[in-house]
Amino acid sequence: MKKLKGKIPVAILGATGSVGQKFIELLSNHPWFEIKEVAASERSAGKKYKDAVNWILTSPLPEKIGNLTVKECDTNLNSKIAFSGLDAGVAGEIESNLAKAGYYVISNSRNHRFDKDVPLLIPEVNPDHLELVKTQSYKGAIVTNPNCSTIGLVLALKPLQDKFGLEAVNVVTMQALSGAGYPGVSSLDIVDNVIPFIGGEEKKMETEPLKILGSLKNGKVKNLILKISAQCNRVAVLDGHLETVQIKLKKKASIDNIIKEWKSFTSIAQKLKLPLAPLHPIYYLEQEKYPQPKLHRNLDKGMAVSIGRLRECSLFDYKFVVLSHNTVRGAAGGAILNAELMLKLNYFNSIK
Ligand code: NAP
Repeated sequence: MKKLKGKIPVAILGATGSVGQKFIELLSNHPWFEIKEVAASERSAGKKYKDAVNWILTSPLPEKIGNLTVKECDTNLNSKIAFSGLDAGVAGEIESNLAKAGYYVISNSRNHRFDKDVPLLIPEVNPDHLELVKTQSYKGAIVTNPNCSTIGLVLALKPLQDKFGLEAVNVVTMQALSGAGYPGVSSLDIVDNVIPFIGGEEKKMETEPLKILGSLKNGKVKNLILKISAQCNRVAVLDGHLETVQIKLKKKASIDNIIKEWKSFTSIAQKLKLPLAPLHPIYYLEQEKYPQPKLHRNLDKGMAVSIGRLRECSLFDYKFVVLSHNTVRGAAGGAILNAELMLKLNYFNSIK
């Protein structure tokens, strides 16, 4: 990375939403990026951001951002890097139009995740997949991050796949309310309740890990062959997706072997000291009632996953519990980490 001559201006698309607000919070003191533009739907465009948004975060809305006028999500943006927290109903076309016009779109939405030339990126897991960007015909580029529940699962699986190989995975999720966006699930539906269905989520969890854990050969990703079964539930927790996981491994491993792999797992994001990279991507918590969303979702800036309760399983080889912060690690924070890696590896060359 060349020495920066000042911070790089960025835009937030879908800035008024649940993920958009998290982008604003996480980027408000970022050493490399500075929010210069916020954009959302035509309902919000033209208003001051503070009048358009229903700010739901506990940290105060930064005054400078509150006074920005919300723009439309079109190619009149001045910032060449756009972080997208757009509703999936509109993200596909908006993001492709921007990429065609020379913008670098770092997206949270599902629309382009399976495009053959678009990386579905987790810097700690498949940084080499960034190479796919070079095969894109866009003047700019699109890079995506996975679904908020996929990310915790894949970070837990990656060291095990590398060391022992995975044969089968079964996962049951307990997913937080903020994962449904704002206003999300009606209070009358979720108070005193668990909803055993989240539209499209199980398919995402069963397919996204195969691309992320796949291997890049000759400019193409060859998906990992692995059986994954997922069941997804919405629970009355504000932030933090908890998942119970069962795994069958290809090679024999002891409990100590597995915990050692998790604890020692590190990656290019830590090596390059990316500003939002957690010190350790994975924390193994020994207490048998951990991890818990309320206690552990903010571990290491909300960017680490916490794992606990590794034990033998009578159906598979082992079972455990994994927790990750869905709007930080699973959305805005993950996307910012992707952009940090891209900057460090000179993927934004044309705009510096
Ligand atoms: P959200 O709270 O519903 O926010 C959606 C945003 O999209 C709002 O800013 C909204 O602007 C904007 N928007 C809606 N229609 C638009 C249009 N026609 N043109 C331009 N902007 C439009 O949703 P969210 O939870 O933040 O999720 C955003 C995206 O990230 C989704 O694709 C979601 O699947 C994905 N994601 C979410 C999470 C999570 O934990 N929440 C995690 C990973 C990925 P207005 O306010 O002006 O309507």
